[in-house]
Amino acid sequence: MSAELDPSTVVVHAGRPARVPDAPLGPSPVFSSTYIAGGDRGYGRFDNEAWAALEETLGQLEGGRGLTFASGMAAVAAICDLAPVGGRVVAPQHAYSGVLALLDQQAATGRLSVTRVDIADTDAVAAAVVGADMLWVESPTNPAMEVADLPAISAAGRAAGATVVVDNTFATPLLQQPLKLGADIVMHSATKFIAGHSDVLLGAIITADDSLWTALEGRRRSLGAIPGPMEAWLALRGLRTLALRLDRAQSNAAFLAERLLDHPRVSRVRYPGLADDPGHARAAAQMSGFGAILSFELGGDAAGAQRVCESTSLWVHATSLGGVESMLERRRRWAIEVPTIPEDLIRLSVGIEHPADLWADLEQALKA
Ligand code: PLP
Repeated sequence: MSAELDPSTVVVHAGRPARVPDAPLGPSPVFSSTYIAGGDRGYGRFDNEAWAALEETLGQLEGGRGLTFASGMAAVAAICDLAPVGGRVVAPQHAYSGVLALLDQQAATGRLSVTRVDIADTDAVAAAVVGADMLWVESPTNPAMEVADLPAISAAGRAAGATVVVDNTFATPLLQQPLKLGADIVMHSATKFIAGHSDVLLGAIITADDSLWTALEGRRRSLGAIPGPMEAWLALRGLRTLALRLDRAQSNAAFLAERLLDHPRVSRVRYPGLADDPGHARAAAQMSGFGAILSFELGGDAAGAQRVCESTSLWVHATSLGGVESMLERRRRWAIEVPTIPEDLIRLSVGIEHPADLWADLEQALKA
């Protein structure tokens, strides 16, 4: 497919079978644990038609070769396994708590050492990455919504000889392409916006470096964290509408961010789309949109924040994000959330409902 196509066209057309008479329009999930000998696929843990179609589509979007995994965390674990035993990983102070917990576990066993930095502080990242083996980046970060200077810290990471990894889950491949900004590896929890319907767990990795791709594909074979064919097929089906879903969700998010900013009970709104957000200029420079996740705080009132989450009727009180349904949660309800995330911080994953309905429900919950 032509490289000049807009990504919103690529999500619709990539990863489809050749247009020959009687060919189906899309790939099928192949339910077979093995294949007849003599071909390239070999065995069900090595390859599947539905994975291949999703990987081709994600590869085109990010500018590399894709690999799908059983979950976002399975992809994270495969990437971390690339670091040498005793190696050092530089990771954000704030990032998805599951990733930070995995790094802590690896540090506790001596498998890795971990240096945590404010990922928005470019000088601090550049200093920390000297002598490190891997730089783990999330931008915007979950749930603090900090924005890293991806070109600058990727250059610093590479200059230090570290493998630069960007978790691009919040931005999606439509809003940000980290490989083009200097990263070595992009990772997604495809569970979120890519699949988009809160019905699948799936992870993805994309890299333009053939030796990294081969090493990661080898980890998937040997660690066995493969996606189910049905999950890969559902994720590709969801991906077909990502551009439409994201357009609506991020315009809803921008609307809600402004409403929350004006609300007397709200002390802070974190959304890079707001003109005075600390990450606004960076996000505007390296992203083509500000995304559909935002966080807000209630002046230190953690109990009030919990009540808000329990008082909505339309917003779903649940963890996870990136689905068509709007969801909210107080992140510190989880014991593993980073203690510097405020107790009263509520993360919103804005869906595709009508913005007036979303605001009406949130407003009545804020009164509760
Ligand atoms: N990265 C980010 C930014 C996430 O938000 C999540 C899950 O919430 C993950 C990775 C882990 O993905 P999964 O839940 O698909 O294993």
